[in-house]
Amino acid sequence: MIDAKIEEILEDLFARESEPTHPIRSMNTDVLAAAAEQGFVRLENGLPVLTRKGLEAGEKVVRRHRLAECLLRDILQVPDAEAEEDACHFEHLLRPGLEDRVCTLLGHPLTCPHGRTIPRGECCRSAARDHVREVGPLCDGRAGQSGVVAYLSTRDSREIQKLMAMGILPGSDIRLTRLFPSYIFAIGHSQFTVDHTLAEKIFVHWRD
Ligand SMILES: [Zn+2]
Ligand SMILES: [Zn+2]
Repeated sequence: MIDAKIEEILEDLFARESEPTHPIRSMNTDVLAAAAEQGFVRLENGLPVLTRKGLEAGEKVVRRHRLAECLLRDILQVPDAEAEEDACHFEHLLRPGLEDRVCTLLGHPLTCPHGRTIPRGECCRSAARDHVREVGPLCDGRAGQSGVVAYLSTRDSREIQKLMAMGILPGSDIRLTRLFPSYIFAIGHSQFTVDHTLAEKIFVHWRD
């Protein structure tokens, strides 16, 4: 496990590889020396440059940070300004294996809320091989399409109660039958109707 302070350096340097204007937080010289000693960076004219090992580690930290941002925004409904700060703490908690599960839950997002690319993981590559579709809201489905409820993007307790009363819970099989004039879908043998406001809050792992 890499020290959180070293991870921050690797994260900033990796982000700067694809975005030259990406800000770099101030680096403590002791941490920098430790990063160099562990083979993550080498110093060129006093400036740190990522080694191959550092690039690999930096890519993972950036992936965790950006997935944490998506998790905070999409599932935990944290406003963007707060999400940025929380993501910095969160990324250190997302341990190997867990990040692929979060990525799968979110439907292998390509970009973070800031529009920056999320480095791909093993889960994204196998999802592409198995033709698993992205997670999308119910309102973007096609009539006749089915899938599994991934998550509910609301924290309004009345909406949550309404959705739960219909049996819409993560993991439920759902089949969309009509899109107009309102969204009609089946869960098990029961049919339900929701308006657009609710339909855009139900995220489904669609099957083709
Ligand atoms: Zn971001
Ligand atoms: Zn993935």
